Amino acid sequence: EAGIRDTLTGLFNRNYFEEHLKTEFHSAIRYSENISLLILDIDHFKKVNDTHGHLVGDRVIRFVARTLEKNIKGKDCAARYGGEEFTLLLPETPPAGARAVAENILKAVSQAQLVRADNKQPLGKITVSAGVAGYQRGEDIMDFIDRADRALYQSKNDGRNRVTVAK
Ligand code: GH3
Ligand code: MG
Ligand code: MG
Repeated sequence: EAGIRDTLTGLFNRNYFEEHLKTEFHSAIRYSENISLLILDIDHFKKVNDTHGHLVGDRVIRFVARTLEKNIKGKDCAARYGGEEFTLLLPETPPAGARAVAENILKAVSQAQLVRADNKQPLGKITVSAGVAGYQRGEDIMDFIDRADRALYQSKNDGRNRVTVAK
């Protein structure tokens, strides 16, 4: 598996995810199946680093990654897309199902009571924002990603710690 996993989290890396997305996207079209894309980003993560340092920040990224893994199954694919940004691809899943997955993840993250490993100091509430897009007939892969991305941006603008499903 060398080269397809992100070293910090063990999730798939961005390169792998993009290849996988292409394959699954075309398959969904061919078989007229639903497919949903989620983009998740840790809220105000810079503050975690600034307050507690980069190593604690890394542990928070790993915690969010574990939470994603716990909330997916089967053909679903979770990746670390960039620094504190993650993607999930859910084949055979309509947007309402993807929203439910996202809501479960946000709930689990926001309810966790994380503490620093060194001095047990609480980290305070960690939250994540999400954008969801269900594939719409006729759109291309860039449109699909773009809709999920804009939904994430909407969640950030609306106050974070929330899920937006793209129109
Ligand atoms: P927003 O709610 O708008 O997403 O705010 P934010 O602070 O999360 O977003 P911003 O993009 O300003 O900051 C992201 C930070 O994530 C900055 C960067 O240093 C940090 N970061 C990126 N990759 C890593 C990493 O691998 N480890 C750690 N500890 N920090 C990282
Ligand atoms: Mg962020
Ligand atoms: Mg980000």
